[in-house]
Amino acid sequence: MCAASAVYVASKVKTANELGIVSEHAHLAADVSQQEIAALIVELNSRNDVDGILVQLPLPKHLDERALLALVDPAKDVDGFHPVNAGRLALGYSSLVPCTPAGVIEILERSGIEIAGRRAVVVGRSNIVGKPLALLLLAAHATVTICHSRTRELARITRDADILVAAIGRTGFIGDDHIGDGSTVIDVGINTVSDPVEARSLFEGEELEKRLATIERRGSTLVGDVNPVAALRRAAAYTPVPGGVGLLTVAMLMKNTVKAARMRRGIGE
Ligand code: NDP
Repeated sequence: MCAASAVYVASKVKTANELGIVSEHAHLAADVSQQEIAALIVELNSRNDVDGILVQLPLPKHLDERALLALVDPAKDVDGFHPVNAGRLALGYSSLVPCTPAGVIEILERSGIEIAGRRAVVVGRSNIVGKPLALLLLAAHATVTICHSRTRELARITRDADILVAAIGRTGFIGDDHIGDGSTVIDVGINTVSDPVEARSLFEGEELEKRLATIERRGSTLVGDVNPVAALRRAAAYTPVPGGVGLLTVAMLMKNTVKAARMRRGIGE
């Protein structure tokens, strides 16, 4: 398991424990076979004391990720990655929704930021973030534009957004030119910066001092896909990295687990 995955899994196990949700972490060897994981998923599907199953991504290259995700019982698919749940989301039916996109909607709603009727631009079209998020924003009645690496005149499109979401995986990519004045900017990206020179191009003032100290202490600091200085200058509301969307992802996983448990017992959502 890569270092980032290890941190995410530890955080999921810890949060589940704090909430009184029993969690089991299956530590598998890096050279585990497709058949071994498949057998484990089938066993977890059949266990009545298991309400939620997730396959921590990314998987080692020799494994067929799609085939394994499709093996998870859709009723226990707390990551919302099974094709049945993705299809239900696309059709607007009740479903287990991917956690990070659900977290973005939760942040907007809890912050009192209106979605209905507004222009939302999502940069990124992955199956785990960009696409499901665009569907959730559409379901909440936003006018949605999805951008990606082939989009032409990206900045012209993003500047027009009332709600701009960056889910790209490129450090500080969204800058001054991309952000409309007074917009809401949601930064989903999680990237690491270990070079103090790069940190100096992304932060200023006290925040820069804090980041340089973090790099000195831990070797790197977490930075999103949005240039923080540009976001603070232009946006009316902005989610920082760390301390923004990332926190919601685990919370939404717990919410999905409770939802799956209730649905399997026929006691509503
Ligand atoms: P992917 O690599 O799967 O997708 C990245 C998307 O960004 C693609 O659709 C790609 O376009 C698009 N893109 C890449 N370069 C550009 C560009 N120059 N201009 C416009 N679009 C571009 O990443 P994920 O969706 O998995 O993750 C995105 C980010 O979110 C990452 O930083 C990841 O670490 C973070 N993340 C954070 C989570 C959290 O809990 N906060 C959870 C999951 C992810 P194309 O499709 O054309 O290649």
